[in-house]
Amino acid sequence: MSHLDTLAVHAGREDFSRIGVHAPPIDLSTTYPTPDLAIGTASFDALVAGEASAENPIYARLHNPTVARVENAVAQLEGMPACVAFGSGMAAMTAVLLEAKSRGNHVLAVRPVYGTSDHLLASGLCGLETEFVNADEIAARLRADTALVIIETPANPTLQLVDIAAVVEAAGSVPVLVDSSFAPPCIQRPVNFGAAYVLHSATKFLSGHGDVMAGVVSCSEQRAKPLRTVRAATGALLHPLAAYLLHRGLATLNLRVERAQRNAEIIALRLARHPAVASVHFPSLHSGSQAEIYRKQMQGPGALMAFELKCGYDAAATVLASVRLCTPAVSLGAVDTLIQHPAGLTHRVLTEAAREQHGISDGLVRLSVGIENIEDIWLDLEQALNATVSTDTMPRVQASA
Ligand SMILES: *Cc1c(COP(=O)(O)O)cnc(C)c1O
Repeated sequence: MSHLDTLAVHAGREDFSRIGVHAPPIDLSTTYPTPDLAIGTASFDALVAGEASAENPIYARLHNPTVARVENAVAQLEGMPACVAFGSGMAAMTAVLLEAKSRGNHVLAVRPVYGTSDHLLASGLCGLETEFVNADEIAARLRADTALVIIETPANPTLQLVDIAAVVEAAGSVPVLVDSSFAPPCIQRPVNFGAAYVLHSATKFLSGHGDVMAGVVSCSEQRAKPLRTVRAATGALLHPLAAYLLHRGLATLNLRVERAQRNAEIIALRLARHPAVASVHFPSLHSGSQAEIYRKQMQGPGALMAFELKCGYDAAATVLASVRLCTPAVSLGAVDTLIQHPAGLTHRVLTEAAREQHGISDGLVRLSVGIENIEDIWLDLEQALNATVSTDTMPRVQASA
């Protein structure tokens, strides 16, 4: 089974006909009987050491069969040997950082990244020193104790692309983590460019319906083991009900992304022509070296974009207040269209200087295009954008004398 759209439907379900089911069984047990103490002890040792499974699951913090199924499915979609699932994207990121801390004290990261990832890295909460660098500075900034290089491409919220292969080459023996949350496997497979870890906030496209918090990291089996150990020790678990919903969501991943992407391609072009919009950031509209990276590592632009409003913060606030079909809300990758203001919400934790340096301006709005009818989405966006233009031509009331 090699085609991704077939894998999306069937991966993690290989044993269904043998066990006689048509939907993934949900195992809610927190503990498992251990009448044979020798088997119990051996299983416990294996799971604490990070083995993917053991004869007895022992305890739900060590192993859960429903979670293991969806991990298997994601690993296949990603084209990697293993996947470890967590209770959220941030829990997944934390586990990778804690594992990195055991190998060194220093991390290199390329901004922009998701606001909370930035916060986690900049705060030093995991005991690591993070240096934010440009992608072309990585080779020069490597230290003997550099344990990890982190990139996010396309980056949240500006859709800036990072050349994965170039970063992997610059990083040498240091593993590179790619946060690919904006680009699910049907449009980007970072393993093909040498990524050691591929992280997704599975809260987004992979689950796809806005009702699951989950994070997944795909990697080699050797790298997966310490991540499972961290998960068992810290308890950053994916609940089996969430794992079930995520697995269910994967079945339609390709269909959802195809449709949302087709909508997004049209919306991006229309936005670029709207008089209230100064510029649109969307991978297939990138130019220069960014366009080269797009052609090299992506199979499509995805369904996320950001656009800059000519009239800044006030116009952005007006758009968010004026949409009726689109939901003004953070998060992304759901079946419905979501719109949000990065400077005011998702990237609020960055310093003003960092926001400014990376183009996260007060007039920037991020749009996650859903699978609704394209004309309905556009009508809603257009009337919201028109509201900003008419506000702007009205006489302004001065806030102070
Ligand atoms: C949402 C997001 C995260 C965090 O994931 P959660 O599931 O919300 O914890 C990490 N990276 C990116 C790019 C995201 O968009």
